[in-house]
Amino acid sequence: MGDAVRFSTNGAVLFAIACAGFMGQHGTRHAGFEKDGTQIMHIDSHFDSGNIEVVELLDGHTANLRIKKDAGDEHMQWFYFRVDDARDQDCTLRIVNAGDASYPSAWAGYRVCTSVDRQTWTRVTTDYSDGVLTIAHRPEGQMQWYAYFAPHTHEQHLDLLSHCQRSDEVTVDRLGGTVDGRDLHRLTVGEGPLQFWAIARQHPGESMASWWMEGFLDRLLDPNDAISKRLRAMATVHVVPHMNPDGAIRGHLRCNAAGANLNREWAEPTIERSPEVYYTRAAMDASGVDFCLDVHGDEELPYNFLSGSEGIDGYADSRLPRLCDVFASAYERANPDLQREHGYPVAPPGKANMTMCTNAVAARFQCPAYTLEMPFKDNANAPDPLFGWSPERCAQLGASGLDALVALAEVTSEAD
Ligand SMILES: [Zn+2]
Repeated sequence: MGDAVRFSTNGAVLFAIACAGFMGQHGTRHAGFEKDGTQIMHIDSHFDSGNIEVVELLDGHTANLRIKKDAGDEHMQWFYFRVDDARDQDCTLRIVNAGDASYPSAWAGYRVCTSVDRQTWTRVTTDYSDGVLTIAHRPEGQMQWYAYFAPHTHEQHLDLLSHCQRSDEVTVDRLGGTVDGRDLHRLTVGEGPLQFWAIARQHPGESMASWWMEGFLDRLLDPNDAISKRLRAMATVHVVPHMNPDGAIRGHLRCNAAGANLNREWAEPTIERSPEVYYTRAAMDASGVDFCLDVHGDEELPYNFLSGSEGIDGYADSRLPRLCDVFASAYERANPDLQREHGYPVAPPGKANMTMCTNAVAARFQCPAYTLEMPFKDNANAPDPLFGWSPERCAQLGASGLDALVALAEVTSEAD
């Protein structure tokens, strides 16, 4: 085929014409120069949480790209890649399979995140039309990073665990192993009789959930924070900061290494397909659960919101509506970035999806439970033109979660 480069994807075969001899096999370096002496950009995603494929370089500064699918071949939307050799050049990066993403309508109103130092992530004006997401941007660094949301990689997760274990307030244990053989860790904080659980990153592409955990754990372990002290006295808080490390490292959106969407595995988790849920649920069985918060990100809605378990059997006649309202209203008061007007439709009585963590745990333990969703885009009630919904605001929302947990603890203890 001469200069043609062949990619096999999902049974389809794409042929990309290599331009001017500078395009190599995916993963090799494309560095070079155009005739006028400008450098030809190079694109790489071979790092922790990276996801992108180069379909073709149309010229030195225009590329057609594809997001790779999760194991299981069903989902994709998360991307994270680096552009080299394009500093101060006008570049056009076209994600040509954006229309096939898990939530294509989510691209409307979305802006890509970019960074030079991987510390500060700002937003880039992004166009979505005819199924193609186009980023027109002039890189400010030799290495310019682009991602769906500010990444929180597996290495950052290990840094967080390692930092937390130095606190006198915490014990760390290993609940079990993942499909790829990584460790699944829990942090346990506090000595109170109530058993509160918080988990995050069942969906590995929702990195905002880890930024939430950074703020939550930082305040939970603060020896001088009076709210944390009260919570630690009233409750034992079990935290699984990262439910899906395999998926995160692989750059997945929703699935683990076996192709399982972990938040659809809670009815019958198995060690083979969903050990992450299996071991976490076993630990919940051992401790009991008085409240569970499952932290996520939502691709489409530009709001922070809670989603409850109204559809489980017997919900309306139980104590759960009152306890859920105590938590949600206290959270909304503590941090106005959380709102209760916009969110998912409420499931009718008896129609809950029992494969989801929040419904399964609420029914199994007859306890209040919520899914927390944060936006990939921004909070439309308080938009930030430069940063959009940011890691800093995720962390602040995480810290505010303690106010809501204390309110819930006080009312639960009175009722008991
Ligand atoms: Zn999710």
